Amino acid sequence: MPELPEVETIKRVLEKAIVGKTIKNIEVRKAKIFQGKPEEVIGRKIEKIERRGKMLIIKLSGDKALLVHFKLTGQMVWAEENSKFEIRNSKFVVLGHPVPFAGTELPAKTTHVIFEIDGGKLFYNDLRQFGWIKVITNYELRITDYLKNLGPEPFDKEFTVEYLQRIFSRTSKPIKLVLMDQTKIAGVGNIYANEALFEAGILPLKPAKKLRNGEIKKLREVVIKVLREGIKYGGSSAKDEAYIKPTGEPGSYQQHFRVYQRAGEKCRKCGTIIKRINLGGRGTFWCPKCQK
Ligand SMILES: [Zn+2]
Repeated sequence: MPELPEVETIKRVLEKAIVGKTIKNIEVRKAKIFQGKPEEVIGRKIEKIERRGKMLIIKLSGDKALLVHFKLTGQMVWAEENSKFEIRNSKFVVLGHPVPFAGTELPAKTTHVIFEIDGGKLFYNDLRQFGWIKVITNYELRITDYLKNLGPEPFDKEFTVEYLQRIFSRTSKPIKLVLMDQTKIAGVGNIYANEALFEAGILPLKPAKKLRNGEIKKLREVVIKVLREGIKYGGSSAKDEAYIKPTGEPGSYQQHFRVYQRAGEKCRKCGTIIKRINLGGRGTFWCPKCQK
């Protein structure tokens, strides 16, 4: 699932590509994914793009916005005319890296919504179809549970050591599950929780309330560090992931994984073999020597 660095990358690419342009038409191929009426959006200008947690907010002219949740396999690909996409028989042929789970031609079987925008088309693809795009007003954005119940953003000033001490002291749940709880911290998912815990030297299974103050301070720093790294490398496009930048190019953070998806391989710091277990249904990776 795209986490904070992946959605932030999508936001930054789309900011350059489509802000200031007008949505000329929308083709909805799967009604459950586009929640709203296309007529409410057609003709509006894209004014601003924001991110909150793992969600994208596309602000439009005239008090409308699109709230996008990519869930497991949602993708947005911006195919600009006269770019690395070639138009053949009214399809956009991807000339570079194939789009994961979509292939080399857009629209693909996994394409469910197509936005026709000045100069190109924005394709929303989703293999598993758990993602959605919701038409929403600015007032609804302020009250919707999707956003209201999210914890602080790791890059915001509310994400303090004191805040983490408070939330960790209240639970004996494994620290990894607390890091991934969107109501506690927005945007951290499985990849970056695994990576941050390795960098902090903390076992993923350690009960949150057992963390010492020094560990909490370190953990706060490395959560910010691994998320910044993820953004720097354009997010993670490992083999099993659908994530792709809207340009059609993969991210490269997967080349820098410390422990994630490295079970059976040697720890980059000490050479011990990386272990894996399932925790809350998610692959959990750690170095038995570096993490206590
Ligand atoms: Zn190690």
